[in-house]
Amino acid sequence: MMKKEKKQPLKEREIGKESPHNPSNSPGTLWIVPTPIGNLEDITLRALRILQEVDKIAAEDTRNTRKLLTHFDIHKPLISYHDHNEKQRSETITLDLQRGLSIALVSDAGMPGISDPGFQVIQQVIEKNLPLEILPGASAFVNALVGSGLPNGKFVFEGFLSRERKERKKRLESLKEEERTMIFYESPHRIKETLKDMGEIFGPRRGTIARELTKRYEEFIRGSIASLLEGLEKAPLKGEMVLVIEGFQGKKEESFQGLSLEEHLLLVMETGLSKKDAVKKVAKDRGIPKREVYDVGIDFEQE
Ligand code: SAM
Repeated sequence: MMKKEKKQPLKEREIGKESPHNPSNSPGTLWIVPTPIGNLEDITLRALRILQEVDKIAAEDTRNTRKLLTHFDIHKPLISYHDHNEKQRSETITLDLQRGLSIALVSDAGMPGISDPGFQVIQQVIEKNLPLEILPGASAFVNALVGSGLPNGKFVFEGFLSRERKERKKRLESLKEEERTMIFYESPHRIKETLKDMGEIFGPRRGTIARELTKRYEEFIRGSIASLLEGLEKAPLKGEMVLVIEGFQGKKEESFQGLSLEEHLLLVMETGLSKKDAVKKVAKDRGIPKREVYDVGIDFEQE
């Protein structure tokens, strides 16, 4: 059981609600604790304190979490909580909480419940009206979105697409006219196939591969879907990655309406196309000769 004189979370201390005495019959709290997605410095002070104070830690992979905890000199009983025992474990966790134990839930990296186990126990805790606290912290999609340079005012998180091509294509078809920036988690083994499918289904769009975030070889590769694919054909990418794809920008004929020829050309060049290809595309989109596009006076040499 948690010690009676345990420190209260900062939130409560700040607003002066600190109480050294937990009523002995009150239920324990489930703490959702994000962990680093690469750089160990990204764990928060609050996360460390909560991990130190709880009675138990439920972990996606106890061996991985043990390593993390040992690094921070935290020694707590661990229980496993993963995709295959989520339902049964959620029940034992809620029983423990009802008995007054406090439990932290962590996944291998990032925010539990985001493409990771956690949803079921969170649902049960809410249903049973037990205390739940979510700590803020690392999650790969946030860094990927912000670093992508794509509009981030509105976005959709799609997580992992299906491994089955047919299913994957069906999902992409349903997203064809999605106007918000889309975020996908993807494995290095499937990224090429996924981009191919996206190119076929979405047509020309901007995209970013955000790779190895917060790690030594972090990289943002920005360009058109076609140029990302071209890069992958030349050199496959390793490591963990997030794919961020521009939303639907309206029909081709509409997408340059209201833009001057120069603005249109600049916009197309921003998608990562070479100058030559950008001129070709703008000329084709507008149904005008390439010469006319070259004449807009943007400072570049004809190729
Ligand atoms: N819960 C995690 C989160 O909050 O981001 C996601 C876990 S999910 C099982 C793992 C996927 O997240 C990876 O395949 C990759 O798509 C993405 N990911 C996790 N860490 C990453 C990193 N450091 N760089 C890029 N992508 C990462």
